[in-house]
Amino acid sequence: METRATFLLISLLLVSCHAPAPALALPPRPPVRCGGGGDCVLSNAYGAWSSDRADCPVSAVAYPASEREVVAAVARASAAGARVKVVSGFAHTIPKLACPGGGGNASTLLISTARLAGVEVDAAARTVTADAGAPLRAVIDAAEAKGLSLAAAPYWEGVSMGGLVSTGSHGSSWWGRGGAVHDHVVGLRLVAPAGEADGWATVLPLRMGDELFPAALVSLGLLGVVTKITLSLEPRFKRSITYEYRDDSTFQDDFTAHAARHEFADITWYPSQHTAVYRVDDRAPLNASGDGVNDFIGFQATPIVATAGLRALETWLERSKNVRSKCALAAAESAAKRLVGNGLKNNGLLFTGYPVVGYQGKMQTSGSCARSPAADLLSACGWDPRFHGIFFYESTAIFSPARFRDFVLDVKRLRDAAGAESLCGVDVYNGLLVRFVKASAAHLGQPEDSVVVDFNYYRASDPAAPRLSEDVWEEVEQLAFVKHGARPHWAKNRLVAFAGVQGKYPRWGQFAAAKRRLDPRGLFDSPWSDEVVGGVEMDKGDGCALDGRCVCSEDRHCSPGQGYYCRPGLVFTEARVCRYSVSQNQ
Ligand SMILES: Cc1cc2nc3c(=O)[nH]c(=O)nc-3n(C[C@H](O)[C@H](O)[C@H](O)COP(=O)(O)OP(=O)(O)OC[C@H]3O[C@@H](n4cnc5c(N)ncnc54)[C@H](O)[C@@H]3O)c2cc1C
Repeated sequence: METRATFLLISLLLVSCHAPAPALALPPRPPVRCGGGGDCVLSNAYGAWSSDRADCPVSAVAYPASEREVVAAVARASAAGARVKVVSGFAHTIPKLACPGGGGNASTLLISTARLAGVEVDAAARTVTADAGAPLRAVIDAAEAKGLSLAAAPYWEGVSMGGLVSTGSHGSSWWGRGGAVHDHVVGLRLVAPAGEADGWATVLPLRMGDELFPAALVSLGLLGVVTKITLSLEPRFKRSITYEYRDDSTFQDDFTAHAARHEFADITWYPSQHTAVYRVDDRAPLNASGDGVNDFIGFQATPIVATAGLRALETWLERSKNVRSKCALAAAESAAKRLVGNGLKNNGLLFTGYPVVGYQGKMQTSGSCARSPAADLLSACGWDPRFHGIFFYESTAIFSPARFRDFVLDVKRLRDAAGAESLCGVDVYNGLLVRFVKASAAHLGQPEDSVVVDFNYYRASDPAAPRLSEDVWEEVEQLAFVKHGARPHWAKNRLVAFAGVQGKYPRWGQFAAAKRRLDPRGLFDSPWSDEVVGGVEMDKGDGCALDGRCVCSEDRHCSPGQGYYCRPGLVFTEARVCRYSVSQNQ
């Protein structure tokens, strides 16, 4: 009876979540909010960082509208010896990269690029130059209006050019310059701190071939403020997308062929359902018929009441350890996505069948929930923290292709050992999304052609609350980042994924040398970079493994009071994970 009621509830919620999206929705809130007394707080789009959940107070915020005003702001901080960080008007980065830290009486400055939003296309040179705060969508639209296309973009469009380039953000391609946006950058301008003799700040125009260019491309905001970015464009083109559903038995052996055969290929693996969905995504000529739109279902505006209901249901299933209903939720989610072509729309309105063909500018990225005026107060992005909707961890591991094959085989072994239903947690979200990026010139870009894997899963509102199948997801994380040496995406992941990150980037030393040269006083450092980049060891507190702040080595790092103890992994026996058992001796 209880199971039937749960199924009914799931169906109702999914129908209301995935009903035709409202045209208008409440846009995300600005990431910096200041109180009457001038005290300001920075938060990210999810309302909680992945590295720690504490707020980020800042003592001053600057909103420069020109490069000259950026220079003045950096010079002010530099003269005062204050810590300074830059953030966009979006703040969609999941770890606490943009927080200058300090707290208490320490003086900190946050420079927002929200007002630096100009875009200029040079049609003859086939380039676009964007101010660092310009929204990705504005850059794409400006290029397309001049008959040109940006070949690469992250799948989510609600980001700034400065933010996405600085963190190595990417779409998917092993062709041409590849799927990472920074590999399409041909020049940028950086404002770095300087000494008194140079007016406390300096502007560096950098182009491909300059010594500092590979450091400045993916800089994590550690070198200074990027003010302008120039990217190369291509003649406008169309894309043709089809999703093919296959069983996952040969997935580990054919992903390279898939990426080699299709320019914008990706694969979504639903391990609990033994299914891999191959995105057959190729360039199409401009005269191919179709004016389709990629309006990815997860990025559409959804009724606030439905996402809050879905969250309440998921929390209840987690707390009651109801694996069966969680798997039903995952199956229903995948079926709903399949029915609507994942949000592809042949005519801009509805999905009527494959292939869906449309202009690159409308197919390469999406995010309709974030670009609507505040006209419908009842809908928003599903994760908007104001409405207690979905709340999840986002792990992204970047592999060499050979190690990725071994990782998939290990996850399949884990599925055999723990049971397929223990993997339903990610299938409720978007499974394991497998994408491709090429070897990069950037010091903190990928050193080889790589496979990028994203997986999202439930995050409890209480950091001390264990998750369903906690041990399995901790083991998957350690399989990726420890056993198979995956590199973490800079803008995603829990703190634990960054352990030993310096050793995973062969040109780390060159980046560190550029950092010493451009910011010798460490003004653009932060508590996150002290811990992750500087390797400063933090205390392992009680329960630290539950929120991804540590790998457990003692039971107290899990939650013995709730029956979670630190145990070896099932497949990767060197892993240490928090596993539920009825008694400590099991
Ligand atoms: C829903 C969602 C979907 C996503 N999808 C993808 C995806 O498909 N692919 C992918 O790779 N990533 C993806 N991301 C990650 C996202 O692309 C990155 O977090 C990106 O950095 C966000 O850009 P932002 O403008 O919000 O940057 P912010 O969060 O504001 O800043 C990011 C970092 O860049 C620095 N920075 C920002 N502006 C500048 C500047 N002008 N000069 C120097 N440093 C600067 C900041 O200090 C900070 O360290 C996604 C994130 C979310 C929340």
